[in-house]
Amino acid sequence: MIALIYFAATLAFVLGLKAMSSPATAVQGMRIAGVAMVVAVVATLLTPGLNHRGLIFIALVLGAVTAWRSAQRVAMTEMPQMVAIYNGLGGGAAAAIAAAELVGGRVHTPSVGILAVIGATIGAVAFAGSVIAWAKLDGRLARVWRLPKAHNDAVLFLAILTLGLGLTLGVSDHPDGFGLFLFFVLALALGGLLTLPIGGADMPVVISLLNAFTGLAVGFEGYVLANPMLIVAGIVVGASGTLLTVLMAKAMNRPIGNVLFAPLTGEANTTGAETVSGRLKEYSATDAAAALRYAQQVVIVPGYGMAVAGAQHKVWELAQLLEEAGVTVKFAIHPVAGRMPGHMNVLLAEAGVPYEKIFDLEEINGEFPQTDVALVIGANDVVNPAARTNSGSPIYGMPILNVDQAREVIVIKRGKGKGYSGIENELFYLDHCHLVYGSAQEVVAALIAELKAMG
Ligand code: NAP
Repeated sequence: MIALIYFAATLAFVLGLKAMSSPATAVQGMRIAGVAMVVAVVATLLTPGLNHRGLIFIALVLGAVTAWRSAQRVAMTEMPQMVAIYNGLGGGAAAAIAAAELVGGRVHTPSVGILAVIGATIGAVAFAGSVIAWAKLDGRLARVWRLPKAHNDAVLFLAILTLGLGLTLGVSDHPDGFGLFLFFVLALALGGLLTLPIGGADMPVVISLLNAFTGLAVGFEGYVLANPMLIVAGIVVGASGTLLTVLMAKAMNRPIGNVLFAPLTGEANTTGAETVSGRLKEYSATDAAAALRYAQQVVIVPGYGMAVAGAQHKVWELAQLLEEAGVTVKFAIHPVAGRMPGHMNVLLAEAGVPYEKIFDLEEINGEFPQTDVALVIGANDVVNPAARTNSGSPIYGMPILNVDQAREVIVIKRGKGKGYSGIENELFYLDHCHLVYGSAQEVVAALIAELKAMG
């Protein structure tokens, strides 16, 4: 009976994930997967011979209440941090399963022991890495840190040491307690050393990679526990995380090996960063509203600043007003805009922007030369032409939204703040670019008021 329930829940997971691949059905997909998870947990609790049901139940209630409350309270701007930390907890849980099985001497065959250790290593790396990613996204940790010398060699040495020790313990009948402790400390340190040097524009790739790691770790531990549900859920997360990593790396035009072992420093490379010339030209809300009102086509490019300001609802109101006035409005989304994969899609969907108005980088880039106004709202790195032209720039090679090719560019931002990668943006100094200063929420509200006044 339990096997049957697991099978049904597994199917529901796969269907839920399929539904998540389109924004139109994503919420439904989340619900299907959520119900499947509850069913699977209940089935596990009913498994004959399960010990400590009371303790498990208390842990479940504590975890569920904490997650429910924090998910309800989290501000939309803190969503990337929350995703990072919950991802880390998944990896940590997988490592904890391995620890419990190894310490309890329940791993009876060497092959299972080896899988437990591999899963534990990946899980501990995902846990430590995700905590660091969380701290970086939350602004609690300086962006990059690496050993003064031979960092990559140290990582390689630590990886060999961790796996070597782990495998020795994994194949032994009674793994030594101190040895296991040391193994987990080394695995956590490995996660830290791998993630600490990564910063700036590479963060999206590392976040999706850690996501894939967590899935893999859960899959391995599912095998150790002989739990098909965990195996499938882990593999599904591992596979989708891997695909996301490949997509993110492609969006950044950065081989994954480079992200891990030749990371961008996240600091401005002075070559080129200082060569920006021209002057910043300001627009009032009235100037900007007029330019937008009399355009035929406007492409709106949202970025992290729109998320921080929580301006998505106002932005959609502005777009609707422009459309009523006969202007064609499109939204252009860069895959790494914001601070988590799909960040802008989530915000625009929340505001009710129809999916057919939202375009990916490849779909929209050809349209900028025919666009009258590109309206950049709190985006910076994803529209920085240095990525095309300045080989000294830390974002060199990353495909960008070619807003500079539009007839006019209007940028909403608060001041001279740089983007996540910490570099200057020559776009803002171009002759046909104007800045409207202020927080996105207030500026867009002012634009709406101006448009209404124009009638
Ligand atoms: P960005 O490069 O971080 O630039 C955001 C801009 O928004 C800043 O220049 C800032 O300028 C402005 N801003 C901040 N608060 C604002 C507000 N309240 N109202 C208006 N403007 C505001 O953003 P992006 O173009 O979206 O690029 C994303 C960057 O984050 C990329 O480098 C990407 O690699 C990185 N990243 C992405 C992810 C992911 O998964 N998507 C994860 C981690 C890192 P002012 O201070 O002058 O206002």
